[in-house]
Amino acid sequence: MREFAYVRATDAQEAQTLVTGRPDAVYLGGGTNLVDLMKLGVTSPGLLVDVSRLPYDRIEHRADGSVLIGAAVRNAPLAGDPGIRRRFPLIAGALLAGASGQVRSAATIGGNLLQRTRCGYFHDVTKPCNKRSPGSGCPAVRGAHRELAVLGTSDHCVATHPSDLAVGLVALDATVRVRSADGGAYAVPVENLYLLPGSTPHRETQLAPGDLITGVEVPPPPPGAAMRYRKVRDRTSYAFALVSAAVSVSVGDDGALRDIRIALGGVAPRPWRARNAEERLRGRRPDDSAVRAAMDAELAGARPLPDNAFKLDLARDLITACVRDLAAEPTGTGERR
Ligand SMILES: Cc1cc2nc3c(=O)[nH]c(=O)nc-3n(C[C@H](O)[C@H](O)[C@H](O)COP(=O)(O)OP(=O)(O)OC[C@H]3O[C@@H](n4cnc5c(N)ncnc54)[C@H](O)[C@@H]3O)c2cc1C
Ligand code: SF4
Repeated sequence: MREFAYVRATDAQEAQTLVTGRPDAVYLGGGTNLVDLMKLGVTSPGLLVDVSRLPYDRIEHRADGSVLIGAAVRNAPLAGDPGIRRRFPLIAGALLAGASGQVRSAATIGGNLLQRTRCGYFHDVTKPCNKRSPGSGCPAVRGAHRELAVLGTSDHCVATHPSDLAVGLVALDATVRVRSADGGAYAVPVENLYLLPGSTPHRETQLAPGDLITGVEVPPPPPGAAMRYRKVRDRTSYAFALVSAAVSVSVGDDGALRDIRIALGGVAPRPWRARNAEERLRGRRPDDSAVRAAMDAELAGARPLPDNAFKLDLARDLITACVRDLAAEPTGTGERR
């Protein structure tokens, strides 16, 4: 590891002043991803500005049913928060499906959303990788791509986005709050935060240099919604998703789907909101054949590689099972799982 400086910022202004004009400066949350990448030589910042003690450490449940989650809130307390468990099980479920208790205790929400891909070539500095070193090539396409993406890819990169939390937040229509380098504030839907690779896979988000994530705002869940996060992986812990699903279902008195939201993880360079499938299912009875047909339409544009085409069947089966199970749950009041 190369030498670097470390400063713990006490307010956002200080943090942003420290990184301004220093392209080698980065924010540090819990360090559970960034420090690993520094050890591997994937990144070599000259200055770490610790933002984990900034006053964005609260979970604020509001009277209208929405919640504001500070960027410095750690993953473990968020997953254990009673209001989150009861009203936003997609958030608690996504967090608990990822990493380990120790990692979750250190990791922050801001850092979780900006963690980097787990593509093995990205982590191996002896190999080319367009994301790490623009223009050097993508060995994954002809190499090890079993775990990589089937949707939204390009010839330049087929990496998957790794955050389970982001998938849950996309299904909940959550928004990321950002403080820009000039001190201004803006908000961006989590769904739009991440960029598809195209010919510039090294550009991963909409954030500009110095932008600081200050929190995540989650609107009230749909009335009567049943929701769940399910993750298929090679082993039950310490494994990223082969395919994951964040699904929310509300069934009307007539048995038809009043509201349905589907987001997929492990299949694309960003959390994948299955809007095409949702559109086809809204107002319809949630029988398996309808869900399968809707998912077929959603996945029609996929570009699987020889070793990861199985993800299409997995995604279809996973969503079909989720919708079936959630639709069968008794009608609730908006506060059920
Ligand atoms: C063994 C292991 C298993 C894991 N398994 C999973 C899993 O299954 N699913 C999953 O989703 N995750 C998993 N993770 C990843 C883990 O969730 C992330 O490492 C963690 O969430 C990152 O949070 P952090 O606060 O430590 O971020 P850091 O490592 O501190 O930072 C990550 C990135 O975010 C930036 N950043 C941090 N805070 C801010 C901010 N407020 N504003 C702007 N930029 C910021 C940093 O500059 C850096 O680029 C695993 C990690 C480990 C080590
Ligand atoms: S898939 Fe993306 S991250 Fe992986 S080697 Fe190719 S360019 Fe790099």
